[in-house]
Amino acid sequence: MNDLTNAAFIKALLARHGFRFSKALGQNFIIDPTVCPRMAECCGAGPGVGVLEIGPGIGVLTEQLAQTAEKVVAVELDERLLPVLDETLGAFDNVRVIHGDVLKLDLFRILEENFFGLRAAVCANLPYYITSPVIMALLESRLPVESITVMVQKEAADRLCAAVGSRDAGAVTVAVNYYAEAEKLFDVPAGSFLPAPKVNSSVIRLTVRPEPPVALTDEKLFFRVVKSVFAQRRKTAANSVSAGLGISKAAVVAALAAIGQPETARAEQFDLPQLAAFANALTDAE
Ligand code: SAM
Repeated sequence: MNDLTNAAFIKALLARHGFRFSKALGQNFIIDPTVCPRMAECCGAGPGVGVLEIGPGIGVLTEQLAQTAEKVVAVELDERLLPVLDETLGAFDNVRVIHGDVLKLDLFRILEENFFGLRAAVCANLPYYITSPVIMALLESRLPVESITVMVQKEAADRLCAAVGSRDAGAVTVAVNYYAEAEKLFDVPAGSFLPAPKVNSSVIRLTVRPEPPVALTDEKLFFRVVKSVFAQRRKTAANSVSAGLGISKAAVVAALAAIGQPETARAEQFDLPQLAAFANALTDAE
């Protein structure tokens, strides 16, 4: 029987398959037996729900998801883990493992082919080297999932879940908030993994919004403005946006005045509606 949170069991399993951990692929496997059941519950795995997992590793989270979800599709990049997953997940007939890079696969097709008639969610202990690119790719592509429950580095969790308009917020915070409601669920210490990473982790949930919370005249312009505002936080937004978008400082200052912000306003002085209004006010200045 599998005991995928038991370090001795894992070491024996991996030794049998001649597997060595790859740091480059962010391979730190969960060994705290309380973490995966909590993640499975928090992501809403249950009857009628299909869960897309990114990076199943040896299948410790996958088996928890498979016990409650209708169907699980797990995308794993490391070919060497495929025979391991065959062995550890062989007893489940509702799990499909797909070999590939989550950033390159056609996830729309995967969901369509596997989760027809099901509600869909993402659940993963993400490889940390691609945390933001994966989250942004899922959100920006508007993949039809209701929520994204992921383990990320604690600092990334703090940034992703910060309030827009607070000191911890960055451009990624704004982007995530535009597409989803972000909440931090629980912390996971470094000792909960094999091998133990140098950093602590947190599980966060992004509940995808059916509609954006603000109206934009030009979505692309909005994200360019946000990127510029947060690019150099010590600079004023007026200077950053003027330089970043090639718009005259006078036009940027006029847009700031139109939304009631002073010329000296900096990144942390804008909440999401204000950033939207700022970008909308700049539409004709470009
Ligand atoms: N889910 C397992 C767990 O919680 O113990 C493993 C998590 S480990 C942090 C990240 C996993 O993602 C590894 O199995 C790694 O091989 C895989 N991975 C890394 N880059 C990937 C990519 N671009 N696409 C899919 N999987 C990837």
